[in-house]
Amino acid sequence: MRALFYSSQPYDQDSFNQAPAVPGLELHFQPARLSEDTAPLAEGHEVVCAFINDDLSAPVLERLAAAGTRLIALRSAGYNHVDLPAAKRLGLTVVRVPAYSPHAVAEHAVALILALNRRLHRAYNRTREGDFSLHGLTGFDLHGKTVGVVGTGQIGLAFARIMAGFGCQLLAYDPYPNPQLEALGARYLALPELLREAQIISLHCPLTEHTRYLINQQSLATLQPGAMLINTGRGALVDTPALIEALKSGQLGYLGLDVYEEEAQIFFEDRSDLPLQDDVLARLLTFPNVIVTAHQAFLTREALAAIAATTLDNIARWTAGNPQNLVEG
Ligand code: NAD
Repeated sequence: MRALFYSSQPYDQDSFNQAPAVPGLELHFQPARLSEDTAPLAEGHEVVCAFINDDLSAPVLERLAAAGTRLIALRSAGYNHVDLPAAKRLGLTVVRVPAYSPHAVAEHAVALILALNRRLHRAYNRTREGDFSLHGLTGFDLHGKTVGVVGTGQIGLAFARIMAGFGCQLLAYDPYPNPQLEALGARYLALPELLREAQIISLHCPLTEHTRYLINQQSLATLQPGAMLINTGRGALVDTPALIEALKSGQLGYLGLDVYEEEAQIFFEDRSDLPLQDDVLARLLTFPNVIVTAHQAFLTREALAAIAATTLDNIARWTAGNPQNLVEG
């Protein structure tokens, strides 16, 4: 049996080649993103392994099914990019990696907070240029600050634990409160109250029809002036043009993004020789109090190893007629 890995990077090949092999399964790595144009490459591959920016819309799934694919093995937790009713109609099974390392993403969110607060991105450039001045680098103590965690599943909990360690007060919002957060002293509030009270807000909920543009012009106006917003969830949790206006007015004091709504055409590629065509992203990158990383929060050795092991196990279990980690509409 053959599996085609779309959007595969050298680090994916390394981690999958090092994971326990599935007998009889050939792995084929393809750097191209999955799209209508590249779907025919899957001809003869019963398994297609896809990542977050691959296109798994109905027309693409139709092409894959026509080319003989039966299993879509997502090497991600998020599945908002899959047309699940279309997959069901076409008889395609979809599996995912529900948990790999929540610590990888939580720690990256904290890295963004620390870098923005202590202006490490500016200090790094300054000292390399021989500028050892400190003006404009004043930060604040995290100790005693109020941190709002939106979405308190695996990543939100790991994040909350770290922030509790800094001595922060924790606020939380989630339709399904997590007793482990309450044990850390977190107070669950309605989202509007959390947004009003928190000085730092970090988004860890999935992208759904309820969470799309959760942070928008109206909700930004209710934040504490100068608040910090961190998004390692999904790009469309925030209305990016509204963020730009809030940064311009100073209402938003700091912004750390690991995800961007239009990232699919941009992230994971070296585009340093090309003019950036996305004007919204280009504007964001002009602000000194904004850090954008290109969806790298998951990128730790431990997370890659866990993604590879679970994905191969998902394929083996599906082959044996005993599928696990199914994604159903
Ligand atoms: P999880 O399923 O463990 O937790 C998600 C939580 O969000 C759940 O507790 C759920 O009840 C809550 N939730 C659902 N709807 C909500 C809403 N309307 N408002 C607030 N909370 C809501 O998932 P996780 O493993 O913690 O991952 C969270 C998200 O992080 C994923 O959906 C994915 O989009 C994102 N993620 C990003 C990266 C990255 O590299 N940047 C990597 C992995 C996951």
